[in-house]
Amino acid sequence: LMARRPIVGGNWKCNPESMAKLDGLVENMNACDASKCDIYVCPSPLHVACVCSKVKAGINVCPQNCNFKGCGAYTGEVAVEQMKDLKIEWVLIGHSERREYFQESNDLLAEKMKLILDSGMKCVYAIGEKLPEREKGLESTMAVCIEQLEKVKGLLDPAKVVIAYEPVWAIGTGVTATAAQAQETHAEIRKWIAKNVSEECAAGIRIQYGGSANAKNAPELSACPDIDGFLVGGASLKPEFKDIVDAIS
Ligand code: PEP
Repeated sequence: LMARRPIVGGNWKCNPESMAKLDGLVENMNACDASKCDIYVCPSPLHVACVCSKVKAGINVCPQNCNFKGCGAYTGEVAVEQMKDLKIEWVLIGHSERREYFQESNDLLAEKMKLILDSGMKCVYAIGEKLPEREKGLESTMAVCIEQLEKVKGLLDPAKVVIAYEPVWAIGTGVTATAAQAQETHAEIRKWIAKNVSEECAAGIRIQYGGSANAKNAPELSACPDIDGFLVGGASLKPEFKDIVDAIS
C-alpha cells in the first residue's frame, strides 16, 4: 500500500488588497520546504496569473473556483482551459464560502469536478458541517459530509482528488476542531468512502483538515492517522505558513 503524501494548501481568499502586498505572500510560500509534501496556494482570481510566474517549483497554484463550463459567454467566470494554459494543475471547489455566499450546490459542484477531471486537472473538494450539525453529534455531522460527497463519489480518484474536511464553525473563527474530533470525522469519511466507493480509494485518498489550523495546533492534528495535511486560510497570509508545512509528520 502506498503511503499518502501529505498536502498543505494556503487559501488567500479575497486577499491581499494590493499587488504591492502580493510579493510578501508569495515569499511565504516560496519559503516552504516542498520536499516532503505537496503544497498549493489559492490566490484570488485577479492574482492567479501573476502568482504563477512567481512561485518556485514545487508550489502549485490552485484557483479558488472555476466555471461550470468551458470558455464562452459566462461573464465573471474563469474556465479550466484558461487555467491549463497557465500550466495550472489544481482547482479548489466547494469551499464553504462559495457554498454559503454564492449558493453553490452539490449538483453544481459535481458538475465542476467532472469538468476539472475531464480536462486532466486535479481537484481539491471542500466539505464540512456547520455548528448546529456538529452540536447534534457525529451522526448529523456525517450526514452533511455524506450529502456533500454523494454526488461526487463516482469521481473520487485518489490520484486526482483531495478532500478538504473543513468544519464551517472552525473556519476563520480561531476555534480549531480538537485532534480527536478531526481524526474521528476523517476516519468516518474514510469509512464511508470504503463502503460507498472502494477500500482502495479510501486507503489512498488524501483528506486535509481545514479550520483555524496554525503552527501551534498543526503538529497534534497532523500526527492523526487519517489527517493528511491542511487547508489553511488566515495563517497562509503569514510567515507562519511554512511552520505548518514543517509540522507535517
Ligand atoms: C479556509 O479558508 O479554508 C480556512 C480553513 O480558513 P482558516 O484557516 O482561516 O480557518
